Amino acid sequence: MPVAVASIMQESNTFSPVPTRYDDFAPVFGAAALEKHRGKLTEMGGFLAALERQGVAVRPVMAAWAITAGRMLREDFDRLAGEFADRLAKGAKPEALLLSLHGAQTAEGVDDAEGHLLGIAREVLGPRVPIVITLDLHANVTQRMAEIADGIFGYRTYPHVDMFEMGGRAADWALRIIAGQVSPVVALRKLPLIAPAENMQTTSGPMLALQQHARRLERRRRIEAVSVFGVQPWMDIEEMGCSVTVTADGDAAAAERAAAELGREFWERRREFDVQLVPPKQAIERALQVEGGPVVLSESSDSTGSGSPGDSTGLLKELLAARLAEPACIFLVDPKAVAAAMEAGVGATVKLRIGGGFDRLNSKPVAVKARVRMLSEGRWTPRARGYNPGIEQSMGRAAVLDVGAVHILVGERSTMTVDPELFRSHGLDPLYMKIVAVKSPNGFRAAYESFAKEMLVVDTPGVSTANLVSLPFQRVPRPIDPLDPRTRLPKDF
Ligand SMILES: [Zn+2]
Repeated sequence: MPVAVASIMQESNTFSPVPTRYDDFAPVFGAAALEKHRGKLTEMGGFLAALERQGVAVRPVMAAWAITAGRMLREDFDRLAGEFADRLAKGAKPEALLLSLHGAQTAEGVDDAEGHLLGIAREVLGPRVPIVITLDLHANVTQRMAEIADGIFGYRTYPHVDMFEMGGRAADWALRIIAGQVSPVVALRKLPLIAPAENMQTTSGPMLALQQHARRLERRRRIEAVSVFGVQPWMDIEEMGCSVTVTADGDAAAAERAAAELGREFWERRREFDVQLVPPKQAIERALQVEGGPVVLSESSDSTGSGSPGDSTGLLKELLAARLAEPACIFLVDPKAVAAAMEAGVGATVKLRIGGGFDRLNSKPVAVKARVRMLSEGRWTPRARGYNPGIEQSMGRAAVLDVGAVHILVGERSTMTVDPELFRSHGLDPLYMKIVAVKSPNGFRAAYESFAKEMLVVDTPGVSTANLVSLPFQRVPRPIDPLDPRTRLPKDF
C-alpha cells in the first residue's frame, strides 16, 4: 500500500489588507504534484526522495503554495480544503499521510487552518493511519495540530534552508511507525510569547542557542524530534504563541519533560529577540559611508514573506530623496503602475504615483517621473536554497522603472524578495548595486550575506513591523509578552 503525500502551505498575516484567494495557491493534483517537486529541495521533494529510496509506493494528493498575505477568503479556503478531502479519499486507503504545512495559515472564520486540514485528514483516513507533518519554524502550533499529528518536524534553520531534510526525516519516521518499530507521541508546550523575526536567525543569537539545546534533547533515548517554533507574530488569533514540540517513541512523560525544559529556556531568553531598527534616512547615510557595495536594507515592516502587501513607499521615498549617484534597486507591488508602463512601452518616460495602493494606513503613493527600462511577464525562478528553489514563480506582469539611479522592479502581484535572482531575472544584478532593498526580516540573509558589505533593518510602519506593541491585537490570549510586560510563565508550565 502506498504512502500519501500532500503539501498545502501559506503564512498569513491577519493585519494585511490583501486577502488570500484560491488562485494564489496554484494547486496541482496527483502526478502533477510529483512532477513539480521531484528532485527539488522542498519538503515534498524530501518526502519523495526518502520514500523512493526505500522502494515505497507514493500516492501524490496535491501540492499548493501561496505567497504570504491576509486571511484566505472563506469560500476559497473551503474549496481548497474540499479538494484536499476529495483527493485524499479517492482510491485505496494509504498506509500513512505525509503532509507539508506552514503552520501559520488562517482563513476568514478559521484561526487554525492547519488544525482544520488535519481534522479533515483524520476524518478521511480514520484513527489508525499515521499522519506526519512538517512545519515552518514560524508555525503557530495548536493543541489540535499536536493531538492529530503522529509526528511534527519543524525547520531547524532560519533563514529556512532545510525543508528537504525535514521532509526526509518526517518520511523516515512515518515508515518506522508503519513498520511497528515505534509508537508515536507528540508533546506541545505553548508560551505566552510572541517575538520579532528579525533576530531569530539560527546562525547566531538566541534561536541558535535554543536549536542547540533541542539537538541535545534529541540525544535522549526515545526522543526523535524537538522543534522550536518562533511563531509568525503578525496574527491576531486565539491560541497564539511561540511553542516547543517533542515527537517521541512511546514515552509521553519524557516528551513532556523535554518540551517543558526547552520551553523554559525559550522564555528566559525572550528579551534577546528584541531588535534595533534603523530609521531609513540614517540607514541610507550609513550605506553611503560603506566602501563598495552592496549594502542590503531590509524593509521588514512590508515583508512579502510575512504577509505584507509589498507596496510600502516608506524606504522607497527616502531612496528617491537621497538622489543617489550609485545604483540601488527595490521591489514594489503596484498593478496600476505596471499597466501604465506597459501602455507607455520600453524607453518611454512616464509620470506616475506609485506604491501605497493596498495598505493605505502605513504609506502613501509617491509621485515619480520614471523611464521604462524593461517590461516582462514577471516570471522568475529562485535558485538559492530556501523557498521553492528551481520552481518558477510569478509576480504577474512586471516592469523595471528607473528614477535616477534607483531601479524599481514593479510587479502586479507579491513575490518573495529573499533571493537575488528576483532582481537578476530582470537585468539588475545586486552584486553591482550600492543599495539593495529587500522586503524580508531575515530570510534574505541566506543568499545575501556572502556578498553584502552590510545588512540593516530599517524602521518604517507596516503590517509586519518588528514593533509588535504598535499593532492592534485583540484576539490573542492575554497576558502575552511583549504586549503585557509583566507576563509570567504559568506555574504548571
Ligand atoms: Zn518562516
